[in-house]
Amino acid sequence: MEIYDSDMLYNDLAHFKYIESVTLEIIGETVLKKPIYSVTVGEGPFLVHWNAGFHGNEWITSKVIVDILGEMVEALEEERELEGFELRTIFDQITLQVVPMVNMDGVDLAIHGLEKAGGYTDLVLNCNQINKTFTSWKANIRGVDLNKQFPAGWEVEKERKPAQPSFRDFPGYAPLTEPEAKAMADLLKNNDIERVLGFHSQGEVIYYGYQNKQPMNSQRVVEDFQRASGYEPICTVDSHAGMKDWFIDNYRKEGYTIEVGKGINPLPLSQYTSILNKVRPIVLLSLLPS
Ligand SMILES: [Zn+2]
Repeated sequence: MEIYDSDMLYNDLAHFKYIESVTLEIIGETVLKKPIYSVTVGEGPFLVHWNAGFHGNEWITSKVIVDILGEMVEALEEERELEGFELRTIFDQITLQVVPMVNMDGVDLAIHGLEKAGGYTDLVLNCNQINKTFTSWKANIRGVDLNKQFPAGWEVEKERKPAQPSFRDFPGYAPLTEPEAKAMADLLKNNDIERVLGFHSQGEVIYYGYQNKQPMNSQRVVEDFQRASGYEPICTVDSHAGMKDWFIDNYRKEGYTIEVGKGINPLPLSQYTSILNKVRPIVLLSLLPS
């Protein structure tokens, strides 16, 4: 396995289809009409949400999250503990909702190049002038950075980021214009989610604040994540319009952006095992209700 594209994701998701404890749902579709899936496990009142693959060249996050989800579901089905976590008891108390790949179009472009540009060949070439390949591509297929699309300080980003479509950082002409970002915002609006974890690469850090609107509990939880993984907590940086920023701003609940691995995106798959081993304890801890 050297890459992880949308076909590989759909293939993995197909394995969840007939497992009783898992529900697969389509929550929207990308610009190129690829279905965006959510995977739900558990029946408890405390809702935990994970997402990955928001940025095209960060597809390693999708692979890590799908594999950990697979480990968890297997342990759950076999009534086993996973790393000391009693999953059966936990999933009576919580419901986990996972969107393992938000930006399928961007992932496929970053991996396969122009053959996956759909009708957007000219646009993506214009967005990408400085690069010979698409390995630096973060945006969706229309050149909008999906994690700069949310209405929390969006105007700040609009002022200082690219004013037109780009391979990264263009926040769009307005918030939530892109179907992938809109699907995620709707998901958070329509479900009473308590805790959001968004997986990105890279840096081995965890952002957990937004303008001091995060709940008191976030700091304790992020310190637990740190102890388990070695990832460094960072309360806030000068950044706006991300999904976690909007979630914290709007709901005053726990939101975390977890930057996995270290190096230049796309991270090489030689890092896969070490990332998996650091992310596993974080996601298991994220299942404990506060
Ligand atoms: Zn990212």
